[in-house]
Amino acid sequence: IAMYKSKHSGGNSVHIFTDTMMEELEVEASLKDAVKNEEFIPYYQPIYDIRNDKIIGAEALVRWEKGGEVIVPDRFIPIAKKTGDIIAIDYKILDKACEFCKQWRLRGIEEFTISVNMSYRSLKHPNCVEIIRSTLLKYNLNPSALKIEITEDEVLDYPQYIAKILNALKLLGVKIALDDFGVGYSSFNHIKMLPIDTLKIDRSLLVKIEDDNKSLAIVETLINLAHTLNLEVVCEGIEEKPQVEILRGIACDLIQGYYISQPLKEKLFDKCIEHYNLNKTIENII
Ligand code: C2E
Ligand code: MG
Ligand code: MG
Ligand code: MG
Repeated sequence: IAMYKSKHSGGNSVHIFTDTMMEELEVEASLKDAVKNEEFIPYYQPIYDIRNDKIIGAEALVRWEKGGEVIVPDRFIPIAKKTGDIIAIDYKILDKACEFCKQWRLRGIEEFTISVNMSYRSLKHPNCVEIIRSTLLKYNLNPSALKIEITEDEVLDYPQYIAKILNALKLLGVKIALDDFGVGYSSFNHIKMLPIDTLKIDRSLLVKIEDDNKSLAIVETLINLAHTLNLEVVCEGIEEKPQVEILRGIACDLIQGYYISQPLKEKLFDKCIEHYNLNKTIENII
């Protein structure tokens, strides 16, 4: 814990900063330079179709490569949301991810789909739809190759506004996924109101699916609900083989998690696809 005399209050009040607060201040101060220096890099986590046993796409997950260090989103995304730097970060990741997706489509995975996380602030940008449209054009990418992931907690605050933007994106042909479903304020009303194509069931509901009948019942019910509404389901955070077998049994569509692979740098993702093409299995892929 460090103590500083606050300049802003004439030096009379003493502010106490914890280590976490210090780190936050440092992050806040370096975000803009980091954007300029292209330190925000997408890693890609494969998304696996358990109906047809193949890798059909990936989710882009940002990492901050700072010096030799790789910093994960939890340490800077919340701060970037506060400062607004998230907008530049999201659109940078979107651009790189679309290019990546186009490459895989050209390299023979014709149905390759790329999922990109967009925060509320980025969706709210006045040119959001225009930027997304021109990014797709830039790489000559079919709009249905792009899936925008939004989280419920962000939708919660501005549902009407978000619905308006998402509807415009739908008109373009872009796909929409509702991320982290099943934690916090998960509301069926959002599923009803928003033009979503995909429901991503949060890891927290899936961790104990092998030995917890309640979790299993909830997940199975969510999958059935999603299918009734014509939505595709992704189960997140799958780490163990038994989870995969159970999910096959209850007609889950897509899975994502360390069992298949961690999020990978572009070059390693190549290796992951190579391994898969060679062995036709997700066992010990990387
Ligand atoms: P998310 O979109 O729900 O992404 C899934 C998170 O779960 C990722 O964490 C991923 O690395 C992690 N994960 C995947 N499989 C497993 C597994 O089997 N076990 C465990 N324990 N974790 C797994 P990550 O990469 O740290 O990202 C955290 C969150 O940060 C993301 O959650 C997303 O909400 C946000 N985020 C990531 N990249 C971006 C971005 O470019 N823009 C915005 N706005 N948010 C982003
Ligand atoms: Mg996501
Ligand atoms: Mg999620
Ligand atoms: Mg999340």
